Amino acid sequence: MTALVNPASGVPLENVPDSDVADVAKAVARARVAFEQWREATPGERARVLLRVADLVERDAEEITRLEVEETGKPLPVMRDGELTFAVDNLRFFAGAARSLDGTGAGVLSAGYTSMLVRRPIGVVGSIAPWNFPLVMAVWKIGPAVAAGNAVVIKPAPQTPRSTLALARLFEEAGAPAGLVGAVTGGASIGSALVRDDGVDMVSVTGSTSTGREVMRGAVDGLKRVHLELGGKAPAIVFADADMSEMSGGVALGATYNTGQDCTAATRVYVEESAYKDAVAALEDSLRRIRPGDPWASDTDIGPLISAAHRERVAGFVERAVSAGARVAVGGSVPSGPGFYYPPTLVLDAAQDSEIVQDELFGPVIVVVPFSSEDEAVRLANDTRYGLASSIWTRDVARALRVAHRLDVGVTWINDHLPIASEAPHGGVKGSGFGKDMSQEAVGEYSVTRHLMIKHAAPAARDSFRPA
Ligand code: NAD
Repeated sequence: MTALVNPASGVPLENVPDSDVADVAKAVARARVAFEQWREATPGERARVLLRVADLVERDAEEITRLEVEETGKPLPVMRDGELTFAVDNLRFFAGAARSLDGTGAGVLSAGYTSMLVRRPIGVVGSIAPWNFPLVMAVWKIGPAVAAGNAVVIKPAPQTPRSTLALARLFEEAGAPAGLVGAVTGGASIGSALVRDDGVDMVSVTGSTSTGREVMRGAVDGLKRVHLELGGKAPAIVFADADMSEMSGGVALGATYNTGQDCTAATRVYVEESAYKDAVAALEDSLRRIRPGDPWASDTDIGPLISAAHRERVAGFVERAVSAGARVAVGGSVPSGPGFYYPPTLVLDAAQDSEIVQDELFGPVIVVVPFSSEDEAVRLANDTRYGLASSIWTRDVARALRVAHRLDVGVTWINDHLPIASEAPHGGVKGSGFGKDMSQEAVGEYSVTRHLMIKHAAPAARDSFRPA
């Protein structure tokens, strides 16, 4: 049993039963049966189910919003107008993507033979999701897999299971075969059981880099395909010619949206030396304007962190940075009162090789580091184990492109930080994992290309090369 807690108050919400290993096996077995039916569904039939699910999420928007605001403490508009609306758009995108998967190629590639390239689903996908955007993460896992003709068993994070459980029920209501989208609950041990279940053909996880590594290990014996969306430590590179007011607003939002619990959050801000003072002053001002508060209040910008333990972790990063010689310019102390709040925080004078610059802390904390040349900015930005997101702030388009091409990351924003679109692939490199969420590419990740070769001419008419 997992006791859910409202992070905005610290008050328990309800107990959700944990699955056991037998429940995982049962969900996978149901998914296998559903897969046999679903793999034969036409693209149009798959699209219809996804479109109906999108409609049902809209129908249940108020209830799903309540569940998630209670579990995560995120402000009502962030959930209702941001995450839920985007999840619906994602589902509709995947419905469209389901209909443009086939027909990649056909032709006479070898004399006397007609070749056809056909996309086929992989089977049952075991998916594991984090707690920061529970609904959207579930949609990013389920949507492309189902669009490509697979079945899914998903395990949400133990802190935030309810919107995923609701989503799985909506797939059945929308007419998907029973068990096509199954959900199991619990923590790492249940996730590990799902990864290792013999009936699972592919594993997809969004989580920390260390979890990604564990999941990969679990997938080795079965030689299962692995799709990993892992941690991030996004740099924002600020050149002296940037519009400092636009930059500070964008970076402050990029660092504190969802209380910084975002894998693409702007966490390391590299500023050209000549503009350092101005940039820091602008960031201080922007961070001070961000209002933590009650998730249901209309004047709240950010809610609490997910748990007391996570707040301790974030505070620990800042304390250790200060012990090592860094300086806190804004925030940096745990407020009194209920809930697991932590203020927007600005840290200066931290060394590039220090923990607070190198490691993902997943909270509303920005570290500012100066640089003196374009080369140095690129070197510092690439100098962590992560490679997910980044932004460049400058009025010089050529420089923005030059720098963007040299960053080892999955996405670079220019003069902004955070916006995403259903059509654009999301995913990282290096310690941020591999594989793409969203976009047609995500649907491709959950399918394999097969080659069908049909003899259409007698052997005498063929003159193609044959190995001896
Ligand atoms: P986490 O790694 O602790 O847990 C993620 C999920 O994995 C949870 O469901 C958890 O129960 C499960 N899990 C943990 N250990 C496991 C194991 N050994 N085997 C199988 N499952 C296991 O991450 P979190 O704290 O829930 O989420 C925050 C992390 O997720 C951050 O690192 C963040 O950057 C990352 N994240 C990445 C993206 C992305 O798109 N790259 C998006 C959102 C979050």
